[in-house]
This record gives sequence, structure tokens and C-alpha cells, in this order.
Amino acid sequence: MPGLGCADLDELRAHIGDCHRCPLGATRTQVVFGVGDERARVVFIGEAPGEKEDLKGEPFVGPAGKLLNELLAHAGLSRDEVYIANVVKCRPPGNRNPEPVEIETCTPFLREQIRVINPDVLVTLGNFATKFVLKTETGITRLRGTVRTAGRFTVLPIYHPAAAIYDRTKRHDLFADFATLAEILGAADASRASDAAAAGAGVANGGQGVDSGHVEDPDASRANASGENLRLF
Ligand code: URA
Repeated sequence: MPGLGCADLDELRAHIGDCHRCPLGATRTQVVFGVGDERARVVFIGEAPGEKEDLKGEPFVGPAGKLLNELLAHAGLSRDEVYIANVVKCRPPGNRNPEPVEIETCTPFLREQIRVINPDVLVTLGNFATKFVLKTETGITRLRGTVRTAGRFTVLPIYHPAAAIYDRTKRHDLFADFATLAEILGAADASRASDAAAAGAGVANGGQGVDSGHVEDPDASRANASGENLRLF
């Protein structure tokens, strides 16, 4: 899927503009584009902005966001080094579920964000994000904490933090799933380091005996963000 061809997130934000492509444009305060590092290794995908997000213009700044920040810290991560977005970028009135037409209209922008960022891992928060990324009808209760793939991405479906605020069991599961996320990132680091070492050995060896064309730049495996042929999911 070629995507929208934006060079960076600023270009995508400008393309979205003061969006009124779906009915949510009439009731929201502002588009809640997304926040974080344009080169993040992990993208978190929520459902839709709530009241606080709609007013501030930033995802996950209300009570669910407070829990998300705690969970990130548990995995040794901060908001600045990940990227956080939603399936739809405008608040549905009264926090109702997003309608299919709203999801269909808005998700090309989420896909483009993911194409530009080109992370290793997508963490889907709750049913809407999980269904969108994994194209599944299986509910989050069955999928949570299991490591999946979609296209070239590792996908970790987890409960939506809002569902865990008053539910101790789900809260416990969420902390366990963020420990899984830390393990996934640790394994990816180790694999990159060993690829880089193998490439270094290949150079030292005059390119003999190892696959020296493998990954010379430890970041090369994620360097195809602008590639037209990048298949998303
Ligand atoms: N819930 C979401 O799914 N997204 C937000 O940004 C806030 C709450």
C-alpha cells in the first residue's frame, strides 16, 4: 500500500487540516493528531479522543492517560520516546463508539502516521484498535498479551487503559502486558546488536564467510519509511 506519500508528520498534519471529511468534524473542538517521537520504535493506538483530549488536542491526557503513563514507566519508557495516536482523530459526541464510516474516513491518516514513523511494534489498546490492525473479530479478552504480527510489524494487543481504571484484574493484566512489551523491545535490541556485529565481522573479514550485506547500519531494518512498496497491514 503506497500510502499518502507524506515526507513527514508535519506534512501529514497539514494535509489533514481543519478536517470535516466525516460527521465528527461538526462536533469536535479540534483534530487530535497524535503525540511523540517521529522515529519511535513503538506506536500506541487508542480508540478516539475523549473530552480532555478534545480540549487539549493531545491523546491520552485524561485518567486513562495517567494510567498509560504509569504503564510506560513500568516498561522503562516515557511518552517522549513512543508515539501515541487513535483510530479516529476527533472526539465522538458523548464518547460514543466511532461509527464504521468515521473509522473508514480517518484511518488512512493513522496508516500514514505508521508508514512515516515505521516503528517495530504496534500496541493496540482495546477492541477498536485491535480490530483495525489485526483484521479480526476476536475480542480483546482473548487476544490481550499475545504477540501477533501484521505486515512487518510486531503487534501487542492489550486492554484499553480506561477499562482498567476501576478493574484490578485488568490493571494487573496491563502491567504484565507492558512487561511483555519490554521483553519484545529487549529482544529486538539484541537481534539488531547481533546483526550489527555480524556485519562488522563481515567487514573485518573482507566480506568473506558471513552475510556482509545483511544489516550494516543497526537502524537499516527500519530505514524504508519512504519506500513506495512498504506493505503495511
Ligand atoms: N481514550 C482513547 O482511546 N484515546 C484517547 O486519546 C483518550 C482516551
